[in-house]
Amino acid sequence: MKEETKIILAGRHPQDHEGAVNTPVYHASTILYPSLAALRGREPMRYTYGRRGTPTSKALEEAMCDLEGADGCVITPSGASAVAVAILSVAKAGDHILMVDSAYYPTRSFCDKMLAGLGIETEYYDPLLGADIASLFRDNTSLVFMESPGSQTFEVQDVPAICAAAKSAKIKTAIDNTWASPHFFKPLVHGVDLSIQAATKYIVGHADALLGTVCANKASHSDLRHIHGLLGLCAGPDDVFLALRGLRTLSTRLRQHQESAIAIAKWLQTFDFVRQVFHPALPEAQGHDIWQRDFTGAAGLFAFEVNPCSEQQLANMLDHMSLFGMGYSWGGFESLIVPAEITRTATAFDNSRQLLRLNIGLEHIDDLKNDLYQGFIRAGYLKA
Ligand SMILES: *Cc1c(COP(=O)(O)O)cnc(C)c1O
Repeated sequence: MKEETKIILAGRHPQDHEGAVNTPVYHASTILYPSLAALRGREPMRYTYGRRGTPTSKALEEAMCDLEGADGCVITPSGASAVAVAILSVAKAGDHILMVDSAYYPTRSFCDKMLAGLGIETEYYDPLLGADIASLFRDNTSLVFMESPGSQTFEVQDVPAICAAAKSAKIKTAIDNTWASPHFFKPLVHGVDLSIQAATKYIVGHADALLGTVCANKASHSDLRHIHGLLGLCAGPDDVFLALRGLRTLSTRLRQHQESAIAIAKWLQTFDFVRQVFHPALPEAQGHDIWQRDFTGAAGLFAFEVNPCSEQQLANMLDHMSLFGMGYSWGGFESLIVPAEITRTATAFDNSRQLLRLNIGLEHIDDLKNDLYQGFIRAGYLKA
């Protein structure tokens, strides 16, 4: 079955819900047991307590497992908590973990401010390391964490090479796969143990709910579920419903995000004040070959570098955009623009470089180009 069809069917069982096409929203904390034997666990119960799952959350878990090719999935209240639970399900006090230098900034903060206090050492590594990652392995290394393409600079990692190296050293691997979503990249197929989604982005897709998922293979699923339970993580049923609803149009939305983003990326390359465009689908981009080998498509989030300008010039541009909103998060139907703020410690990055990050939404591309063009005029890059 093709991916587009799988997305429509995944996790849906209408006949279990009076024929309703979409799994209804179960609001439940207490689940009533039919007998003492069931309460004592001697008779099987599909659901035991709201925090431990309802038909609504199970529907999303099942759908994500189908799409990621996973043995199990846990749902968390945000992408950030999905990152945290994935790491904590592997790393223990005394461990050393390898974190990609281009990780989402709050992931870095979690490592630096939380893991350090738990006695887990984080070492950042160059996203362009492939099999050579093995040179950083220590006796106590327990996890290699990837994010590909990387935050803000969109380097594509050689995930299969990293996973092969880690596997031969009995080290687990995790990836933040939010950019590609399971529709464009299947981490578990490439050897990753734990695949994270900030479902807030493309899966919810409408900028109105926060949610995370972690999908695991057989070897990693039970530890993941155990730590997820110990941390008391669960998501509100209405948000889970929004993710299930968003999922059904994922492939159609992504097709348009991809088409518009690549067209705008190429258009930006035609301006002489644009120094570099960071989008893996461009042949000049870092890791383009790997992207072509491993991914089936490209998302609508990318960055571009312009000639340095003053804060005032930047404000002249960004304060008066008519379509591109200025705000964090991405993956919704509406276009966004923010100046990229970049932290790198394992690799060099010149922070005087001016990068802007775009989330290309579903507006008509001519209108988006016009909005950017007017902004470039206000910033003084183009003459009126
Ligand atoms: C947004 C994002 C997250 C965090 O998701 P939240 O739902 O905002 O907590 C994690 N990773 C990546 C790559 C993201 O873009």
